[in-house]
Amino acid sequence: MEEKSKLTGDINVLSKTDLDLVALALELMNTTSNEIIVYTNDYSMENLCSELNLKFKTLYKNGIKTKIYFEVYCPFCKTIYKSEDLNKCCERCGLKLKRRFLKKEKI
Ligand SMILES: [Zn+2]
Repeated sequence: MEEKSKLTGDINVLSKTDLDLVALALELMNTTSNEIIVYTNDYSMENLCSELNLKFKTLYKNGIKTKIYFEVYCPFCKTIYKSEDLNKCCERCGLKLKRRFLKKEKI
C-alpha cells in the first residue's frame, strides 16, 4: 500500500491514522462480504483509495472526478525531487522542498 501511495505523491501528506484506516478497509474487504466504503474529506485519501480500488465517499462533495498528481521541487533552484523527498531539504541549496500541483487525470 505504501508503494502505491508513493506513485501519486500522497504518502507524505497522509497521517498514520489515515494510512491505518486504509489498511483496515483493505483488510475488511478481504475478510467480509460487506461493502466497505471509506469516508474522507481529504483529497490525498481519495487519490489513494482510487489507486487501491477502495470505495470512498467524500463528506463535503461528490468526490473527485480527476486524480491529482503533485511533484516535489526546490523553490529556489527548481530541481525536481521524488515525492518521498517532500520533507527533506534540497541537496544543492538546503532549502526545504515544496510540493506543487503537477497534473490532473480523468478517472
Ligand atoms: Zn535547491
